[in-house]
Amino acid sequence: MKRILITGALGQIGSELITFLRKRYGQENVIASDIKPIPEETIKQGGIFEHIDCLDAQEIYSVIKKYRIDTIFHLAAVLSAIGEKNPQLAWKVNINGLYNVLEIAREYKCAVFSPSSIAVFGPSTPKDNTPQETIQRPSTIYGLTKVTGELLGDYYYSKYRVDTRGVRFPGIISYATLPGGGTTDYAVEIFYQAIKNKKYTCFLDKDTYLDMMYMPDALKAAVSLMEADPSRLKHRNAYNVTAESFNPEQLAREIKKYIPDFEIYYTVDPMRQEIADSWPNRLDDTAAREDWGWSPDYDLKTMTKDMIEKLKVKLQISG
Ligand code: NAD
Repeated sequence: MKRILITGALGQIGSELITFLRKRYGQENVIASDIKPIPEETIKQGGIFEHIDCLDAQEIYSVIKKYRIDTIFHLAAVLSAIGEKNPQLAWKVNINGLYNVLEIAREYKCAVFSPSSIAVFGPSTPKDNTPQETIQRPSTIYGLTKVTGELLGDYYYSKYRVDTRGVRFPGIISYATLPGGGTTDYAVEIFYQAIKNKKYTCFLDKDTYLDMMYMPDALKAAVSLMEADPSRLKHRNAYNVTAESFNPEQLAREIKKYIPDFEIYYTVDPMRQEIADSWPNRLDDTAAREDWGWSPDYDLKTMTKDMIEKLKVKLQISG
């Protein structure tokens, strides 16, 4: 990885991946892009930023050529909850956008990281210790696009030897950028509301278990996989990865250790509850651990402590 392009770089993961990659590979070697206009604070941070709509292949081509890109972190996507509200847009962005990126990667011999999701699993998938290889019959348009994306990645690897790699991310928890409309967003919103108002009304039921991961681990997973020795990779798209599995009640209990008068209430949103119920309780990520040494640094306890400390500073609330 000498010259890296990130698509969808202004989203929850991209906005932190930019800094992570620039520290590791050099400010001038990481080109960030998004369909959204660049915010003032991103401009102030410096570094190269280009406008790319992934549905416009020419826009991707010109940036790949201009900067002689060899690796693409393709993060532009429409997530689960937004996708259910606009399935046509989810299909267009998640499939046509990925197809454009893979075609360009084939021509210019770029490596491609494109994250998949726990959303590739559905109601008929084993819920506990969900295996690396198992039934993938999702019931959401987002899940459908992610399964297709995994298969496309595998196809471009086996047919054209494009170096495609991916992980199935669980819900990502972070304090820098708000999540972009997924079913696991409650696990971020709860921290903001706990600090600001000492109460939170959760849209998922209290005993809904889901896999989660703190952002530093998500960044580590993406970059470790891309840096891994290709001869050790038995899978391409995509590796199960997880760090922790908990339900809203357990997260609220952990937050109460730092904010004792915090209260959680529940008003279940049927659409997001149905999506969450169709996803696994906990993934088995043995393959990632064995093939490229995956191991998370944070669990529920350490993640909660760090989130509250960092978010308090961000929101400038002391005590
Ligand atoms: P996000 O919704 O926060 O950000 C996506 C970005 O893509 C946005 O900045 C948006 O402006 C951009 N985008 C949308 N359409 C575009 C287009 N046509 N061209 C260019 N950019 C476009 O998403 P995220 O949470 O950062 O997720 C990044 C990737 O990780 C996605 O593939 C997502 O499916 C996957 N993932 C995320 C999570 C999570 O919890 N955040 C979990 C599993 C998988």
